Amino acid sequence: MGKTFFEELNNENVTGVAYKNVSLKKTVLSYFANVGNATIADLCKELNLSAPKVTALLADLIQDGLIKDYGKVESTGGRKPNLYGLVPDSAFFIGVDIKQNHINIGLSDLQKNLIKVSEKIPYKLDNNKESLESLCTLINDFITELTIPREKLLGIGINLTGRINYATGYSYSFFYFNEEPLSKIIESKIGIRVFLENDSKSMAYGEFSAGVVNHEKNVLFLNLDHGIGLGILVNGQLYYGKSGYSGEFGHIPLFNNEIICQCGKKGCLETEASGWALTRMFKERLLEGSSSILTKNKNSADIKMEDIINAANNDDVLAIELIAKIGENLGRGIALLINLFNPELVILGGSLAATEEYIRLPIKSAINKYSLSLVNQDTILKMSKLGERAGLIGACLLVRNRLLSLS
Ligand SMILES: [Zn+2]
Repeated sequence: MGKTFFEELNNENVTGVAYKNVSLKKTVLSYFANVGNATIADLCKELNLSAPKVTALLADLIQDGLIKDYGKVESTGGRKPNLYGLVPDSAFFIGVDIKQNHINIGLSDLQKNLIKVSEKIPYKLDNNKESLESLCTLINDFITELTIPREKLLGIGINLTGRINYATGYSYSFFYFNEEPLSKIIESKIGIRVFLENDSKSMAYGEFSAGVVNHEKNVLFLNLDHGIGLGILVNGQLYYGKSGYSGEFGHIPLFNNEIICQCGKKGCLETEASGWALTRMFKERLLEGSSSILTKNKNSADIKMEDIINAANNDDVLAIELIAKIGENLGRGIALLINLFNPELVILGGSLAATEEYIRLPIKSAINKYSLSLVNQDTILKMSKLGERAGLIGACLLVRNRLLSLS
């Protein structure tokens, strides 16, 4: 008996005819994933293949359980052809979205349905080996609880903040302890293929594939969290730059201050327009004597960004005022992006986007103030539709597309 598609996919020694067949099967799967179910005649036409070739490829993929015959299509007269399509539960992908104080893990099927989600699992992202160990434990725990056969789990997509080279699997901002790429280190602890991605790029991709984006192809996604991330979509494709480090929007030196940024430099946008900045300003204002509902049952030192977001949504004046200030500063930066990219759509996502109009309005007003009006007239500003799920959905889809070379 021949090898299954997955065995061939993971075998790096496949050459010649077998290699050609694997790549044709990926093309067929891609077609089903992106366009939907199809007849043999459709596939011949769209993929420029002969009917015997398509029939043989389908037979193999049916045997592997990846696609199935969905029966006759409705047609007027003549022989009715059969319709083929993906079997959603034939393959699964895990997405892991790492935040500063928690992680989200999700499972999607081949048809990109989110099957299981575990959100807000407590976790502390620190740049040390213990934090990496506990990440692997949490992923393993999630997998252990699944009832699907392990061989159907094809890959794990992990979103991490900072500089990530997705092609090599290296992470340079977090967990850069070994010669080996981080993706391989995690892979060895879990036993399933791992793909790393920058968190903001992954969120942008989720929003692009299953969120607020309709037909727009030139889109900027802002990940407004403790730091500020940016995902750039140009002509419908994620823009990576040479090594994947594009989008370091938070570290543009827009301010003339003495505040040292997370990156070690000073004056970065992040020092005046991020969740870190919000938390710092909030504490400074409390020290200066301002009042807030948060000081009723919390020490000033224990206040986190999430508390301030909740306070704003509960009408806390200080929280609302400082979020507006952050928004105004962000808007200055976004005005710069609009002048550079002339995007059709700018999406506000990440934790701070949960404050909705409190952050959107000052951003909008600063964009009007600081960008060229002819350019910003082209740009719609929207809130993320997927919210906290954007990263999970993006991670699952990216790993599916990478593994099956779907585009
Ligand atoms: Zn910086």
